[in-house]
Amino acid sequence: MATTAPIEFAFPDIARWQAGSDGARYIHVRKAAASGPTVMVNALTHGNEVSGAIAVDHLLAAGIGPRRGTLILSFANVDAYASFDPAAPFKSRMVDEDFNRVWGRLGQPATTVETRRAEEMRPFVDRTDLLLDLHSMHDDGVPLMLSGPLDKGVAFARRLGAPVDIVRDAGHAAGMRMRDYGGFGDAASPKNALLIETGQHWRASSVTVAKDIVARFLVETGVVDAADVPAGWRQPAPAAQRVVEVTHAIATRTGDFRATRIFEGQEVVARAGTVLGHDDGEPVKTPYDNCVLVMPSANRPLRPGVTVVRLGRFV
Ligand SMILES: [Zn+2]
Repeated sequence: MATTAPIEFAFPDIARWQAGSDGARYIHVRKAAASGPTVMVNALTHGNEVSGAIAVDHLLAAGIGPRRGTLILSFANVDAYASFDPAAPFKSRMVDEDFNRVWGRLGQPATTVETRRAEEMRPFVDRTDLLLDLHSMHDDGVPLMLSGPLDKGVAFARRLGAPVDIVRDAGHAAGMRMRDYGGFGDAASPKNALLIETGQHWRASSVTVAKDIVARFLVETGVVDAADVPAGWRQPAPAAQRVVEVTHAIATRTGDFRATRIFEGQEVVARAGTVLGHDDGEPVKTPYDNCVLVMPSANRPLRPGVTVVRLGRFV
């Protein structure tokens, strides 16, 4: 595969949003007089995932506010975003560590850009009832809604009605994601969160997906009415959605994972026992028939401990 992907859109200048609410950088809180949920739309959890930043930048510029409840619009890893270098476009995913793996380690001394930023965002995330976290993908692939492991996440993803593929998953051994933090990851809590992967990082289509999902999310949560979302954002719904339940997350032990071939996202491997590759010389096989390969990153070099591919089945 190509080591660099074409960049099909202009990156937004988000510096104008630095001065946020309550002294927080790049976090903007808007309240309605009428009561309702506290809803957060967050972009740039990963600094090189720009489609969501375009959507949030647009909402801020349009001055969209809630009719009911509270709307929080935020950019998370702004330092990583600012480090973007077109000559090495994948490096700006993070500065020191993955912002989306630190959420089980809050309250400890913050020693990285990402843990400091998570602590800064934490009071806003703590008060959020419904979260949409906007991401995109390294490799070209269909959009995926990552609903987390709980029934309530899958139900929420179904209420949005798009995209086609819902991935029911438990996250990563390397650390807790924001979407699994606190009440979002508690089946007994009414809080809920979704993570959308809008497609490849710099495809124009990823912006279309981000805007569609943001529009659906804002209306579904009730903070705005359908007529309030920007014209043209909402796309036709697919005829049906499907749910893939992730059963295995394959992480490379030492970073020496050798795939047997190039794999596509959401590819279905028909037969159990098919060798997908070798990790440190050990074969990695599909555990059952019709195994879905969720976000395979086996086609490129990886650091030790990083997830190579997740395996799932349609449920
Ligand atoms: Zn991401």
